[in-house]
Amino acid sequence: MENLKRIQNSLVECDIPALLVSEIENVRWLTGFTGSSGAVIVTPSKASFITDARYDVQARDEVKAPFSVHIFATPKTMNDEIADCLDANEITAFGFEAVHTSYAQYQKLVEKFPNHKVQPAPDLFGPLRMVKSEAEIETTRRACKLADACFDHVCRLVQPGVSEYDLGLEIEFFFRRQGAKLAFEPIVVAGERAALPHGKPSERKLQAGDLVTMDFGANLDGYCSDLTRTVAIGEVTPRVREIYDKVLAAQEAALAVMKPGVSAATVDKAARNAMGEDAKYFGHGLGHGLGRVVHDGGRLGPSSTDTLAVGQIWTVEPGIYVPGLTGCRIEDDVVVTSDGIEILTHSPKAFTQF
Ligand code: ZN
Ligand code: ZN
Repeated sequence: MENLKRIQNSLVECDIPALLVSEIENVRWLTGFTGSSGAVIVTPSKASFITDARYDVQARDEVKAPFSVHIFATPKTMNDEIADCLDANEITAFGFEAVHTSYAQYQKLVEKFPNHKVQPAPDLFGPLRMVKSEAEIETTRRACKLADACFDHVCRLVQPGVSEYDLGLEIEFFFRRQGAKLAFEPIVVAGERAALPHGKPSERKLQAGDLVTMDFGANLDGYCSDLTRTVAIGEVTPRVREIYDKVLAAQEAALAVMKPGVSAATVDKAARNAMGEDAKYFGHGLGHGLGRVVHDGGRLGPSSTDTLAVGQIWTVEPGIYVPGLTGCRIEDDVVVTSDGIEILTHSPKAFTQF
């Protein structure tokens, strides 16, 4: 229950008497519960887990002491059960997760608890979730391995006449066949459509001279991978090749400066500098934290205030997108180690023509 202790320490530091945790990924991170609905009331010394009768057996199996497990059934509601838990623990003031609570949910809380002090709490989970345990890193390693296997598999299909749809579907099939979920909808864009950084696959068929960008990841046992590779169909023009080489050089420059203590902005700058003039076609941040969700806490970007620390997992994904011509992105996942980084994705990056 290491994660529970970490949150309880944060509560003490921030002088929060009790916290209602309702964001489901935070609930899972805290308790190990894998169902889709649940909440936790945590104080510096106690923790109560609440879910409904659908998850009775599962919750008792997954959520262990020191959590107490509370199951409610219709017509009782989650808020009724929360009220009972607060009363049982004599809690009269509690914080809620302000960044994950809509205004309508907030209004409901205030209505339900007129005699409690209900206060917005800062995001205690975000900074803690950025630093992974060895078990979380190992699960991410497996998710990355699966993404590599998927790239290897889908490359067998890459040839003129195959559509972006075909490749996108094959990626989905591959992950599902391996018992994983999609970390996000795969992106497959070819030719002039490769200039769309987040384009959805279309009926566009691959043809000679195209670059094809494929961006996909697995969600395996709750942890995500996120891999992008760009490959060529037959011969490409010197300008297209130059774009590929610059993106690769930018990624290598960024990877080379990553180690604990380095600022996220410095890593981003290393990539942009390596692109020279073409940096003007690099319109997004260099990367993001990776974890229980694909865009987890942390950003590598020019205005980021994050600093690299041991145990953080980052994507590193520079791209150049020239409207009407083509685009290219190369993305790997890395974990920060005591003396640098370990790269978790290993698919080949040398310029490849099919
Ligand atoms: Zn990606
Ligand atoms: Zn990404």
